[in-house]
Order: sequence, then C-alpha cells, then structure tokens
Amino acid sequence: MDQTNILVLGNNLISNLLRRILIKNKIDHLNFAYPVQETERRFFAIKPTFLKWYSECFNEDLHNHYAIKHIQIFVDNEELNLKDSVTKPFPLFNIMSSDYLFESFSRDLDDIHKVFKEDEDLEFVFDNDEVILKNYQIPSKLIINTDFRFNKFLNKKPEREEKKKYDEFAVTAIFKTDDNLENRAVQYFRESKILAILPFSDHEFSIVLSGLKKGDEKLFDDSGEQLINFIKEQTTLASVELLSKISHFPLTLYKIKHDPKLRSLFIGDAGHKVHPLAGQGLNLGLGDIQMLENLISDKRIIDFGQENNIKKYVISRSVDESLVMNLTDCLDETLVNKSDVFSNLFKYPIKLIENSELLKKAIVRKMI
Ligand SMILES: Cc1cc2nc3c(=O)[nH]c(=O)nc-3n(C[C@H](O)[C@H](O)[C@H](O)COP(=O)(O)OP(=O)(O)OC[C@H]3O[C@@H](n4cnc5c(N)ncnc54)[C@H](O)[C@@H]3O)c2cc1C
Repeated sequence: MDQTNILVLGNNLISNLLRRILIKNKIDHLNFAYPVQETERRFFAIKPTFLKWYSECFNEDLHNHYAIKHIQIFVDNEELNLKDSVTKPFPLFNIMSSDYLFESFSRDLDDIHKVFKEDEDLEFVFDNDEVILKNYQIPSKLIINTDFRFNKFLNKKPEREEKKKYDEFAVTAIFKTDDNLENRAVQYFRESKILAILPFSDHEFSIVLSGLKKGDEKLFDDSGEQLINFIKEQTTLASVELLSKISHFPLTLYKIKHDPKLRSLFIGDAGHKVHPLAGQGLNLGLGDIQMLENLISDKRIIDFGQENNIKKYVISRSVDESLVMNLTDCLDETLVNKSDVFSNLFKYPIKLIENSELLKKAIVRKMI
C-alpha cells in the first residue's frame, strides 16, 4: 500500500481537531480508532486564547460559551478575587460543553477510515524511515496517538515520566439554581477537598469536586442529596437541584517521554494527564494542536516524523506541560494531602496577591 504521511490514532476532541488541521493544510493522513464509547456531556473551562486561535485558523467562531468574568478562590475563609479587568477585552475563561466542542471539531470530517474491534491484536513496527501497522500493511512517516489504549501494541513502548496515581478521585455533575451565578466561577480549598463551581448559564453550573478519598463514595448516592448539602454548606447558593448523573474520575499524573527516533507523537491525554484542579487538562491538549499546526504549516518540512521535527515539538511543549504539572501537583500535595498545617502557609501569599494588581496580572497571564 502507498505510504500515508500521518496516521492519527483515536476518535476524541483532540484527534478530530487535529484532523481538521491536517485537512486545512492538505496533508494526507488516515484516522484509525476504536468504536465510540458512550460519553457523558461534560463542561470544560477553556482559555479565551484558544477561541481566538480557532477563529483565525478556521475562519469560523466557536459559539455556545459562557464567559467567566470573575474567579473567586477560597483557601479556608481567606479569599482571592480575579476579575476580567486584567484580561479585557477577553473574559478570564469560557465554560463550554463537550458535545458542542465535539460537533464543532468534527465539522466536515469524513468517517473514521478504520474502526478496530475492541479485542483486535495490532502490531506497530518502527524502522528508520517509517512506522508500519503490520496487520494492514500501512506504512506512515509519523503516527500521532491520541488514545493511550494503542500504546500496548507499539513494539517499542513509550516511557511514562513523573507517573503518579493520586490516592484520590474526582466527581463531576450538573446542577441548576434559582440564584444568579453572574459569570462568576468559585473554587473552595477546604478540609482537604477542592470544589469548583463552574457556571455555564446564569442558572446552571457544573462542579468538579476533587480531593475525595476511599470512603467518600457515600457522598454520591443517585439522589445527590448529600452532594447538594455539601455544595450548600460550602457556597452561598440557597437552591441547588441535580440535573445529571454523578460521574467519577480516578486521578493520575503522567507525561509521555517522547523518543525522537520513534516517529510518534502522543498528544492530548495520551501524552499527559494532570490533576483537574486548575481546569488545564484539555487546554494542554488544545495547546498541543496549536503547536502541531505551526510544525505542519511549515511548507519546507517534507518528513514530519524526522527526529529533529519531533524534538522541536517536544521542546516547544515542555514549558507549558511542566508548568501545569508542577503547579497542580504542588497545590494538591499541599492543600489536599497535608491539608490543615500547610493550608495556613497559603494564607499570607493569598493576602499579598489579593492586594496587588501586578501579581494578579502575572498569575492570570501564566494560566490564561
Ligand atoms: C473531573 C475532571 C474535570 C476536568 N475539567 C477540565 C477543564 O475544566 N478544563 C480542561 O481543560 N480540562 C479539564 N479536564 C481534563 C480533560 O477532561 C481531558 O484533558 C480531556 O478530556 C482530554 O480530551 P481527549 O480528547 O484527549 O480525550 P477524551 O477524554 O476521550 O475526550 C474528551 C471528551 O470529549 C467527548 N467525546 C470524546 N469522544 C466523543 C465522541 N466520540 N462523541 C461525543 N463526544 C465525545 C467526551 O465528553 C469526552 O469526555 C478535566 C478532567 C477531569 C477528570
């Protein structure tokens, strides 16, 4: 079979956005994936810089976003306020739904080229000039993997750096309220738990509750009664009604160590996974795509899988990856795992930041 330039593995937000970029740049590629699994509607905090990039890249705007103009952070009762005055004309970030993003990223894409059976044994073999999917005799210059389930079939497996399984899980769910949420996201770091209230309309919000340990499952019977009580205790919301099922997520931290000789890139959650407390996981994946677009749109490059191209990509992503991994892990370690003593350490810096517009700008620029 003729060689394909890029083989994209996976069918998710990241793989579909990548395919749109490949089509835009007229780069021949194939997309292979496992069958679609049942997915829940979720909400993500998305950086405004991504919306700007998307609109310039595809000449089309993403709509259906709820602007967050004010973030309130509580460590116990100490309070930090970030307002959109530091990011104007942009909001601090936008809350967007997974189904709208998925539909937008999939616009004008052909069907997946090959859907594998769940139990199919695959074999990917690397040599100097190509990666070959043996079973189908498909050679390619580069594979871009967005689904870690394929890793087990690579004859040279990528190493995972900084691997850590948090002794912790998170839940998400969707609620409505009679209170007006007024474009304000709130995050509470209290008693080893982290609760984020992320509004996606004036009267609806999703939550991410992390720092949950074995035994905390009792908070989540299907009625959501305990969870609602917990939210009411922490927040100023008077009315709270559950609108969805409560979803559980185990939490891990890792980053794939790319071998530049292996003609493969791992992007999105297949390349790095972080604690959700700063809402940065998907944003990191979207950043991967933006960096790949820089590489792919360079018309001088003929072989994207060449060692120096992989190196260039890996180096350019490492600053963002390290920043998010270190920041989220450090906050989790300090405020969840060593809670009471260490949370006191945060009180003075929080006061300091709260009183300095300059420090607020610096923080917001790094994260948003
Ligand atoms: C509790 C929790 C909260 C998080 N909150 C944020 C956040 O606010 N901001 C952020 O940047 N990151 C957040 N993340 C990280 C984020 O979930 C992952 O980084 C992201 O899901 C990875 O996307 P992916 O495309 O690599 O993979 P996937 O997780 O496979 O895809 C992402 C989502 O897209 C949807 N989707 C995938 N495939 C399909 C399909 N075939 N049809 C329809 N829909 C589909 C699903 O809803 C899926 O959850 C959070 C993670 C957790 C565990």
